[in-house]
Amino acid sequence: MILGRERAALCETGRRLAAAGMVVGAAGNVSVRVGDLVAVTPGGVMLDRMAPGDCPVVDVEGHLVDGERAPSSETPMHLALYAETDAAAIVHTHSTYGTVVATTMDELPPVHYNTLLLGGVVKVAEYATYGTPELAASVRAAMAGGMRAALLANHGGVTVGRDLEEAFEHARLLEWLCGVYVRAKTIGEPRVLSEEQLARVVERALNPPAWPRRAAEDV
Ligand SMILES: [Zn+2]
Repeated sequence: MILGRERAALCETGRRLAAAGMVVGAAGNVSVRVGDLVAVTPGGVMLDRMAPGDCPVVDVEGHLVDGERAPSSETPMHLALYAETDAAAIVHTHSTYGTVVATTMDELPPVHYNTLLLGGVVKVAEYATYGTPELAASVRAAMAGGMRAALLANHGGVTVGRDLEEAFEHARLLEWLCGVYVRAKTIGEPRVLSEEQLARVVERALNPPAWPRRAAEDV
């Protein structure tokens, strides 16, 4: 079986997403790219109950290369993001807080500096029907400029990574950031970090202060 290891990794990621409460039933999809091939989860299958053989392989143009099942209906979005970014893996979910923010906002207000780990302020891609080239184009636009995540209006969220592990962690981080924002909103008006405050975080991360070392005679 071609991409056997990657297809097994998709199954493992599906189980982890379900265990983390981020996917319900067959909602959500995951893919991993190797060269010009993409292994993707199938449509209509519970993400925590897949076998590697259930996951089809397509090429970057979308032709089916291997597998019996139809690729996820959001495969065009995955392919558009592989074209837009240097990602090697993509996770799409309908996780609760991400969907709440995607249903009410035009972007996820940066109330926590860890949004920078997703490339900056996460945008909400304009609504389009699931599975359509229009949705793929709108998500691609929201992800331009090195973003690692986007929210999909009235739908969910999507994250990319250099591997499945990173795409999964980005999905968890996106959901956490949305959860913080939504919960903060219930007790007051959240303070939003300014561009300058975010720029200082980047500066600090790039130039961490050196730890003062204890003098040798004191050791
Ligand atoms: Zn979806």
